[in-house]
Order: sequence, then structure tokens, then C-alpha cells
Amino acid sequence: MSTEAVGKINLLDLDRKGMEAFFASMGEKAFRASQLMQWIHQRGITDFDEMSNLSKVMRERLKEMAVVHIPETVVEQDSQDGTRKWLLRLDSGNSIEMVYIPEDDRGTLCISSQVGCALACSFCSTAQQGFNRNLSTAEIIGQLFLAKKTLEQDMSDTTKRVVTNVVMMGMGEPLLNFDNVVKAMNLMMDDFGYGLSKRRVTLSTAGVVPAMDRLKEACDVALAVSLHATTDALRDELVPINKKYPISELMAACRRYLDRDGRRKITFEYVMLKGVNDQPEHARQLIKLMKDVPGKVNLIPFNPFPGSKYVCSSRNAIFRFRDLLQQGGVITMTRKTRGEDIDAACGQLAGKVIDKTQRTQRKTIPIRGVAK
Ligand code: SAH
Repeated sequence: MSTEAVGKINLLDLDRKGMEAFFASMGEKAFRASQLMQWIHQRGITDFDEMSNLSKVMRERLKEMAVVHIPETVVEQDSQDGTRKWLLRLDSGNSIEMVYIPEDDRGTLCISSQVGCALACSFCSTAQQGFNRNLSTAEIIGQLFLAKKTLEQDMSDTTKRVVTNVVMMGMGEPLLNFDNVVKAMNLMMDDFGYGLSKRRVTLSTAGVVPAMDRLKEACDVALAVSLHATTDALRDELVPINKKYPISELMAACRRYLDRDGRRKITFEYVMLKGVNDQPEHARQLIKLMKDVPGKVNLIPFNPFPGSKYVCSSRNAIFRFRDLLQQGGVITMTRKTRGEDIDAACGQLAGKVIDKTQRTQRKTIPIRGVAK
């Protein structure tokens, strides 16, 4: 952060409520919050002098008290399939990654919620890097700010919305950074922010059960749950937070999450690991588990990374698994692997994590090289 910004409020940290409180503290009216939000989040303006509907006096006061400070892009990489990955440097010397996945009818941005991750899922590259800290609201929403702004500059058709969907599926466990993630998601859905509908903002969790209940009260978004296994013995190994919140508790929390809206479904993510969780018996167990929870399954082909100890299931095994689920009445989709050539696929996001948990020292798994 520049020395000029030190001690000032970063307006990207404030959702509507926060912005209104900020203006109230200045003795200003609440509508100023909407004005500022539109300049920042909709028009991508960070310089108060460009905000032409604010008086000169107001602009000077804002300059004294606040900044709009976004993470800095270190590397931007384009995949052959149109996927784009950014490596972003944060103020603390850490860096994170985010990914944009364009499709015919939508553009999905996959954003990070933490520097590294503390959950140690055995098939995930982010987990191998250990954990450093939670991202601030500004660092979370700053990713969307930056992606929208750069993609709009690159697009010839300016009438099209570039980011139509956001998934909290980058680095980190979003429910372990609850307050900042909720504030950022509120900004994504705010009419004066990014105006995304609640069906187009998805939070993916490894299953932090108490926080799933809190989320239900705090913020209405689509929920994805990283299930990946049908027995506690296997899930304990793949997603170790299962030891704390086993499958039965997780499924009960899913049912509670859906209580308020009968039309909703939960997406269950299921990574396809050869010979580990991809057998017909697993499909049958999964069908049983889903009997009481309205949901669909998203099969994710495993994306390998240096040192990973798993192999992706064969195409045939994935088809067979999908067919069995569908025959059992479970809506099933297979996630297309995108951005493989730039290591942008699920579970491959690495960034640069100054590991506080020392997991990286306990293990000998080499970490994929990242820009220094
Ligand atoms: N912490 C959140 C977000 C993680 S990333 C969560 O656990 O849900 C989104 C999805 O990618 C999760 O389902 C995660 O389990 C999965 N994933 C992680 N590593 C993977 C890999 N190497 N291959 C395929 N999917 C992976």
C-alpha cells in the first residue's frame, strides 16, 4: 500500500451498511453511499476527482479520509480455451490467484477467500501450501472489481455483462472467513454494487457445519458442498474437517440450509479419484445419501499437481458413475476441465503463501513454481 494510503479507510472494505455508516460519521446523507458504490463498483473509478456528482469539498474530504485500493496484478495468463488466470499481489507479500471462465451464455469468475487454506484436503494443491491469513473484504471484492474492469477494457461488445456468475471456489475455505466473505457477497448482489442475482453467486464449502447455519441467516446465496466421499472413513482421509463434522451432520445442515426455500438445490461436488471413490458401490451410496436432500451432483475430474498422490478416474469410469447416479434419479453434471494449460483448473490455484502453519516444511511435496 502506498504511504499515502496508510491509516485511511479502504472503501472496498465497506458494504452498503458500512458505506452508509461511513457517510453518517461524516455528517452526510445515506444516498451518498449509493453514489460512491456506483462510481466504484459499477464504473470502476478509484480516483475521487473523477466522481463528477460530488462537490469539490466532498472530494477533498474523501481524499483525506479514504482510498479505493485494489490488489495489484503480477501476472495475467490466457489459456487456449479462453480461461484467464491472474496472480495478484497483496500488501503483506502474499499472493493469490483468481480465474475467469467464459462460456457461451455466461462468464464465471472464481475468486479466493483466504491466502492458502487450513483444511488440508488431501487432493487439493492449495492445501499443500498451508495457511497464512483471511482476505479482507476489499481483497475479496477487489478481485471482482479488477476482473470486471480488465475484461471490459478487452471486450469489443460493451453491451454484454462480462462477469455473470461468481463462485467462491478459489483458494481458501470461505466459511472460515465468514464476515468478510458475507460482506463481499452482499456487494456482489447489491443493485448499486455488481447487481448479480442470488442464484448466480455460489459459495463452496468443505462442510463447516455451524457456519452453514449462520450463512442461512446472513446471506442468501447458492451453496455448493465438497462431499467427495460417501463414508466417514474415506471422507476423514480426503476432507479431514469431516472428523469434526461427519457426513450425517453435514447432510442435516444441508437440509436446514434449504428449509427457507423449497425450490432450491444444493450442488454436491465430487472429485473423481481413480480407484478411491469412483466405484459403482460409491455411486449407490451417494444416491442413498441424497434421498433426503434436494441436490444435484457435480463430478469434477481430478486435476493433478506436482507431488499429488491421486490419479483421475478414466473417462469411462466417470461416464459409468454419472449414468449410475442418473439412473438413481440424481441430476448429475460433469464439470468441464478448463484452463488446464495454465494450471487454472479446480484445486490447482497456488499463489504465493507465506505459510504460518508450517505444513510446507512438514511435507516434501514440491510446490508449483509461481512468480516471485
Ligand atoms: N474450500 C472450498 C472451496 C474449494 S475449491 C471447498 O472446499 O468447497 C472448489 C472445489 O474444487 C472443491 O470442491 C474442491 O474440493 C475441489 N478441488 C480441490 N482440489 C481439486 C483437484 N486437485 N482436482 C479437482 N477438484 C479439486
